[in-house]
Amino acid sequence: LNNILGFTGGIGSGKTAATNYFQQLGVPVIDADVIARQALEGDSALIEPVKTHFGPNILNQQGHIDRSALREIIFSHPEEKKWLENLVHPWVREALLAQLAASSPLFHYIILSSPLLFETHQDQWVQRCLVIDCPEALQKQRASQRDLHSPESIQRIMDQQLPRPARLERADDILDNSLDLHHLYAQIDRLHHFYMHLDWTTHA
Ligand code: ATP
Repeated sequence: LNNILGFTGGIGSGKTAATNYFQQLGVPVIDADVIARQALEGDSALIEPVKTHFGPNILNQQGHIDRSALREIIFSHPEEKKWLENLVHPWVREALLAQLAASSPLFHYIILSSPLLFETHQDQWVQRCLVIDCPEALQKQRASQRDLHSPESIQRIMDQQLPRPARLERADDILDNSLDLHHLYAQIDRLHHFYMHLDWTTHA
């Protein structure tokens, strides 16, 4: 696989807004966050071991794994976090690689979008990295507008992500999302044109 563009940005930086637009331009987008959620949903083989390990309190009223309960546990118990990661990471890795392999032949380039692209070393599977960026105050404002996240929970997520300068340092290309969406889309149009003419086979 040699035509994968890694895409990341902090919470509320506009990843979803950007990937929706890339998809409109025809670019296949694989979302690592969606895959990570699927690990503990539906008929995933990981649900049983999680139930056994954490007990019945980890289920919500619908009998599904209660993500916020799980988040609370692993936030305050590093050893439980480790246990869960050891279970989930290999599954996510396999699912991700399978989806990348399936989508790669479909278009000149495809996008692997992940909030933790660098932090979880998913950038090992990409040829080039695009980072979307805006000031942290704007990230917090947009994230709280969208989700009614508390300032504390937004800060907690930001603390798990690379600091802004470190993320920018690892970018090959940067989308500045500090202005309106037209400004964002215009930059995406230009980058898309560039990526469509890039010889990905010699780029790796
Ligand atoms: P998360 O990591 O939390 O999933 P994200 O990076 O996917 O966030 P988005 O959901 O795309 O971020 O954007 C956060 C909110 O800010 C959304 O409500 C979105 O519509 C809005 N938004 C994104 N970009 C802009 C912009 N340039 N101008 C105004 N609002 C924006």
